Amino acid sequence: MVLEKKNFIIDYDENISYIPEVVDFLEKKMSGFMNYFELNSPKTKEKVIVFNSIEKYKKHLEKYTEYRDYMCADTYDGNINLLSLEEAHKTHEHANMTLDELKSTILHEFVHICQKNCQVEKYNKTVSWFWEALATNLGNPEKFSRITIEATNKEINNFNTLPNNYPTAFTIGNYLLGNYSHEDILNYVKYPSKLLVDSEKILNDAREWSHIQRIK
Ligand SMILES: [Zn+2]
Repeated sequence: MVLEKKNFIIDYDENISYIPEVVDFLEKKMSGFMNYFELNSPKTKEKVIVFNSIEKYKKHLEKYTEYRDYMCADTYDGNINLLSLEEAHKTHEHANMTLDELKSTILHEFVHICQKNCQVEKYNKTVSWFWEALATNLGNPEKFSRITIEATNKEINNFNTLPNNYPTAFTIGNYLLGNYSHEDILNYVKYPSKLLVDSEKILNDAREWSHIQRIK
């Protein structure tokens, strides 16, 4: 069934009993993110689709990427697609996922959507570490811990093959949010070419900062 709320639409199997709780949670949280990204009047409502069949979800993903066990949510088509809790439990990675984790996974994905909508300059390449730096810090920070960054900038830029990629992005995001103004960060979101100009410096400084944090 489809439920329409102020900022989003949610499409789910009515047998999933916990969806009303998820909806309440999203209603409370989503406007804060929209304010952060200065998206106060969305042209279209965001759509959340809860897949109640892992097979259907795999089929959906096949259009964009090779399915991997850890995949339980995405925004490839501009919607927030995610597995229901019951289906996520069928994976190895999310066998013990809780409802709170499911809720914060949606927030993480919602940050990605907001970032996409906030971007002004057309830019083909996604700077993955920046993308995940914001989503992990703003969306589901409780899931991540800061680390001491050892990876080179080149390794960080090859985000998918970087070991510890999400904790690395979370640490860079910690550094960015603590040391750059909201305006600066939004400018990087709006104009990825500006981010690219500064990215070597940001990564070098974030790495150094992460080492100082360890000593403190
Ligand atoms: Zn993400």
